[in-house]
Amino acid sequence: MAWYYGTYSCGHDGKINLVGPTKDRQQKADWHFSGLCPDCYRKKQEEDREAADIEAEKKSEEMELPRLIGTEKQRKWANQLRLKVISSLNSNCEKIEQKLKERGLDVLPGEGIGMKEIIDSVQYFIRVHTDAKDWIDSRDEPANLKDAVNEYRKHLEEIAHYDVIEEINRTEESMIVSPECDFSKNGVVKLRFKDGFLDVEYVKDSAFIEIVKNLGYRWSGTVWKKEITEYTGDIEDRADELGYRLLNAGFTVQFPDAESKEKAVSAAFTPENDKWIKFNSKTGQLTLVWTKRNDTIYENAKKLPGAKWKDGAMRVSMEFYREIEDFSVMMGFCISQMARRKIEEYKEKEQSFEKVLTKTAESANT
Ligand SMILES: [Zn+2]
Repeated sequence: MAWYYGTYSCGHDGKINLVGPTKDRQQKADWHFSGLCPDCYRKKQEEDREAADIEAEKKSEEMELPRLIGTEKQRKWANQLRLKVISSLNSNCEKIEQKLKERGLDVLPGEGIGMKEIIDSVQYFIRVHTDAKDWIDSRDEPANLKDAVNEYRKHLEEIAHYDVIEEINRTEESMIVSPECDFSKNGVVKLRFKDGFLDVEYVKDSAFIEIVKNLGYRWSGTVWKKEITEYTGDIEDRADELGYRLLNAGFTVQFPDAESKEKAVSAAFTPENDKWIKFNSKTGQLTLVWTKRNDTIYENAKKLPGAKWKDGAMRVSMEFYREIEDFSVMMGFCISQMARRKIEEYKEKEQSFEKVLTKTAESANT
């Protein structure tokens, strides 16, 4: 490691600390000093950015693009990003036009897309995306022509089925229940079933967050989610339990369907069981898990033969399944399907032990 001194191309002196083979260092230092000094580099970048901002704004005005919504900084950046996307959309339009002309076709084979639809789609795309944040958020994966066409097709479809969409909106509205109390919260908490998850959406609110966290929901970055598994019980029951709690806390709730709405209102759901006997495939033992601190459960679980507390669960050897089954009844634990299967397997094995033992005892007597 050594310091090298030099003069940058901007005329400012500086130094750099270099590592690596000695013979290459002077070369590296020369390259380094052939550029701007750190201060001038930063200044130049700022100037470039400002120039690009002004240029993008001018160009956007010339093209009569809709004015973007957002803070000044967001708008400036989004202007540049939007121009880039538009330019790539346009160049793709030209390519397709060329292709169609060459082949003497009106629409792209397979895709069924013609020039009119492409042009209309791009126009629509530019017209509706006026939120600066949209352009910034999608900068790593900017929209292509296909995206624009799909969005436009969806829009046309919605117009054609306006009445159906209205009907859905009305049904969704009828799934909304307001709490019967005088401390109700504004807005609507939306519950949705999606790909084996129960999704919950609401604005940031500490009382809301406490309820969902308590019921084991996790923040995904956009919504609160709960994965529905064997241990959580039915997705409907989970929607009902959450809805019921929210209503009692003064929230207005939109349920995923009529059934869950009825159940929540009448509190007719099965509460989630957080007490489970599971099978630990690593150790071959049964494990007793429960999520809420409970000293009575702990004391009783500890009394099971050979019970050991590890990683937040009580481990018990399979051979004491009888004691565990009694414990599960007494303490309200559920036995997982896997644990149930392993217990049955063990019972069969146990019977064969007994036969061998009896035989050995018999032969010993004769
Ligand atoms: Zn300089």
